Amino acid sequence: MKKLGLTLLIVFACAQILSANHYTELKQTKVVTDTLKADGIDPVCTMKIKAGNTKTVVFNKVTYGFCSESCKKTFVADPKKYIKK
Ligand SMILES: [Zn+2]
Repeated sequence: MKKLGLTLLIVFACAQILSANHYTELKQTKVVTDTLKADGIDPVCTMKIKAGNTKTVVFNKVTYGFCSESCKKTFVADPKKYIKK
């Protein structure tokens, strides 16, 4: 009986960790978007993005356009990785 209680405790703890991670993820995806004012390049896949695109992320006051939501998410997860200095 004790063992079952322990297992439940572990499952509960894991669920807590997972939901905490999920919350952090949600906070990170809260990004500022804008309309791309000039043609640009998707920093993730280097595809050309035309002005007027709204799949964008404003990072350090620069608007980056993306070809898809998945590229956008990839960028948001680690913007510095895709920005050339
Ligand atoms: Zn892309």
